[in-house]
Amino acid sequence: MSSIESSPPAAALLATAQQVFVPVYQPRALVLDHGRGARLWDREGREYIDFAAGIAVCSLGHADPELVAALHAQALKLWHTSNVFYNAPAIELAEALVAASGFAQRVFLCNSGAEANEAAIKLARRWATQQGRAPARRTILSFQGSFHGRTLATVTATAQPRYQQGFEPLPAGFRYCAFNDLDAAAAALADDSVCAVLVEPVQGEGGVMPAAPGFLAGLRALCDQHDALLICDEIQCGMGRTGTLFAHVQDGVVPDVVTLAKALGAGFPIGAMLAGPRVAGVLQYGAHGSTFGGNPLAAAVARVALRRLAAPALLAQVTRRGQALRDGLQALGAATGVFEHVRGRGLMLGAVLAVAHRGKAGAILDHAHRAGLLLLQAGPDVLRIVPPLVLDATDSEQGLARLAQALRTYLAAA
Ligand SMILES: *Cc1c(COP(=O)(O)O)cnc(C)c1O
Repeated sequence: MSSIESSPPAAALLATAQQVFVPVYQPRALVLDHGRGARLWDREGREYIDFAAGIAVCSLGHADPELVAALHAQALKLWHTSNVFYNAPAIELAEALVAASGFAQRVFLCNSGAEANEAAIKLARRWATQQGRAPARRTILSFQGSFHGRTLATVTATAQPRYQQGFEPLPAGFRYCAFNDLDAAAAALADDSVCAVLVEPVQGEGGVMPAAPGFLAGLRALCDQHDALLICDEIQCGMGRTGTLFAHVQDGVVPDVVTLAKALGAGFPIGAMLAGPRVAGVLQYGAHGSTFGGNPLAAAVARVALRRLAAPALLAQVTRRGQALRDGLQALGAATGVFEHVRGRGLMLGAVLAVAHRGKAGAILDHAHRAGLLLLQAGPDVLRIVPPLVLDATDSEQGLARLAQALRTYLAAA
C-alpha cells in the first residue's frame, strides 16, 4: 500500500507517540493499519484475529461494505448541523432506537459513553428535583467493580478508587454497594436518599461479571419501593453483545433509562440515553445539550448498525458462537490450567486466571499478540474476549488455536 510506504515506518511512529501523547494509555507496540471482518493488519503487514473489537465497539467487524457506503453517502451530503437544525439521519436513528428498545419514549444523542451516563445522572437529579425531593435525596447508587466513564461525575459513579484518586473533590451524592448483593442494595436504599440506581447488566471493565439471576429484578423492586429510577448502563453489554439487542431483557426487567455507546456506532463515535415513559419529559428545553450530539455522519452509520445488530439471525448467531467460544476457552483452561473458569454472556466472555497466574493478564496479552490474536484484559486477573459479533466459525477456531499457541509460549517463558 503506497499510503503506508510514503509515511514513517511503525518504529518511528511509536517513538513519536511516546513523546506527543499525554501518556494516559499504554498501547501495545503495534500500529494497526487496516481491517476486514474480524481480521486486522498492522503496518508491517502482520495479520491478527480480532477478539477485542476496539473494546466491544466494532461489532460488525472492520470495513463492513454497508457501513462504509452509509458513511460515504452521508459524507458527500452533510457533516454537521448542530441541534439548532434537524437532520434526517438523527431523527431516523432516534425513532429506530425507540422502536427497538420496547420501553423508551425519547432519546438524547451524544458522542460517548461517559456523556450518555452524564445525561442519565443529570436526568435522575432533575427528576428528583421535580418530585420535590430535598437536596439530600439525590444520591446515585452504583456498584463495586462498575465502570461508568471518566468525566468527574461518571468517574465518581465508577466505584473503583484507582480511577478516582487524586481528582478530589469528587462531586457529592454518590453511594456504592457490593454487586450482586441485594441485601446490601436494600440497606443502601433504606434511608430514601437514593434517586437512581445505576447498574451494568454485565460489568465489563470490572472483570466481565454478569448480574446474578434475580439481581436486576430485585433492584427493580427496590427502586419501585423507594421511588428511585433504575438506570441500566449497556454501553458495553448492549447492542447484541450478549445475544439480545438489550442485555436487561434477559433479566426480565424494564429500566427507566438505558445508556448506550460503544457498539451503537460500530466504530463511529456516538452515545445515546434512552428514557422510558416515567422520565421522558424530565429534561425540557435548555436543560441539557451537546454540540455534536446527533451528528449526521454518526447517526447515518448507527442507524444501519442498529438495523443489522437487531436482526434475529445475527443475535441467534451471537448466542451460538458465544457458546462455542466459551466451550473452547473452557477446554483450553482445563488443558493448560491457566484459567479457572469462563464467565459472561453471549460474545462477552471473561477467562478468569487461576491462582498461580493471577496478575498475568497483561503478559498473556503480549504472547497473544505475538501469536496473531488481539485480546483484552479486564483487570489483571481476567482475559476479556469481545470479538466482532460477525465472527465466523473459522475466525473463532483459528483465534482459539492462536490463543492455545500464546498460552504455550507464555507457560514456556514463565
Ligand atoms: C466504556 C464504558 C463507558 C464509558 O464510555 P466512553 O465512551 O469511554 O466514555 C461507560 N460505561 C461502560 C459500561 C463502559 O464499558
